[in-house]
Amino acid sequence: MTKRIYLDYAATAPTDPEVLKAMEPYFSERFGNPSSIHAFGQEAKKGMEDARVQLADFLGARPEEIIFTSGGTESNNHAVIGTAYAQKDKGNHIITSRIEHHAVSEPLKFLAKQGFEVTEIAVDKEGLVDPADVKKAITSKTILISIMHANNEIGTIQPVAEIGSIARQKGVYFHTDAVQTVGHIPVNVDELKADMLSLSAHKFYGPKGVGALYIRKGTRVENFLRGGDQEKGRRASTQNTPGIVGLGAAIELCRRKMAEEAAFQSGLRDRLIAGLQAKISDIRLNGHPLKRLPNNVNFSIRYIEGESMLLNLDMLGIAVSTGSACTSTSLEPSHVLLAIGLPHDIAHGSLRFTMGRWTTEDDINAVLEHLPPVVEKLRAMSPLYDKK
Ligand SMILES: *Cc1c(COP(=O)(O)O)cnc(C)c1O
Repeated sequence: MTKRIYLDYAATAPTDPEVLKAMEPYFSERFGNPSSIHAFGQEAKKGMEDARVQLADFLGARPEEIIFTSGGTESNNHAVIGTAYAQKDKGNHIITSRIEHHAVSEPLKFLAKQGFEVTEIAVDKEGLVDPADVKKAITSKTILISIMHANNEIGTIQPVAEIGSIARQKGVYFHTDAVQTVGHIPVNVDELKADMLSLSAHKFYGPKGVGALYIRKGTRVENFLRGGDQEKGRRASTQNTPGIVGLGAAIELCRRKMAEEAAFQSGLRDRLIAGLQAKISDIRLNGHPLKRLPNNVNFSIRYIEGESMLLNLDMLGIAVSTGSACTSTSLEPSHVLLAIGLPHDIAHGSLRFTMGRWTTEDDINAVLEHLPPVVEKLRAMSPLYDKK
């Protein structure tokens, strides 16, 4: 196979050529520091502020409610640690789910070592959080609820608006990690009732290393990086103007293309799901069948290892994932697959396919052609399959 096929868009996406074009002048003639008063500074600042308006429009937010960050991880750290510290006087209890990205669960572990109490809400076998469980977990000490919008491994979309309503009724801040949804499905901070929302440009065809945190006006959040007064003092350091302009251009492209892309990708998704189910025995679709990202397919294929399938597909020029890229170097099965109730051996045999702007029908056909013989070959060598 000569053409390489990329089906790992949930890990990262290429920067759209139009985005790259929009960024280029901010590396060269418009290189100024956006904090400078002179003309060089002012034209850099204009690019940055235009991007802030583009992003705010997309989210239904006000530009002054957007802070630019270095990506999804920083946004999540800022939201979670920042609200915990700012509300120490009010309480020490935080509610989250068992299937959060490590960029939320690790900052929470950091807080737990400092006396904060963290309740992890279980999910059902399709990966859904029940809002009633969130409601029951709230105490007089609860200061934050952080539940992701859609899961990066299994694609399940959470009932975030309902959770946000509960949080608001109880006067508790609500943060959502929307890194997998922004640019792919509609995300409106008022509809979701989010007080804070994280996003990352490289997941929607912008550059890596730049993201944003939406903070609703009036929300108490400790500043994250201390230094100069960039981003109204909430996040010091000279802004990444080329990256921010790229984020703005990327969200603008998504605004125009999103509905059509989601419809096309969900068609590919459903064809891939049906095709693999027809061609391979003993497989299980992970995640919710309907409340699901338009570009996500995740299967457990019994009796064999996800890594072996991944490497075999890679040799054929097809790039997929066995879980989230962050866990692909560890031997522990994904915490998400364990949380939906899969036993270790089945969780180990999982593959994730995530599609994007440049995925074609032919790419899906190639998977349907090449994966079944790979599975057959690996099962023929598998002692587990023998005993079946
Ligand atoms: C990718 C991802 C992150 C991390 O974003 P970075 O910009 O890579 O730091 C956080 N949460 C989710 C759900 C993600 O998919």
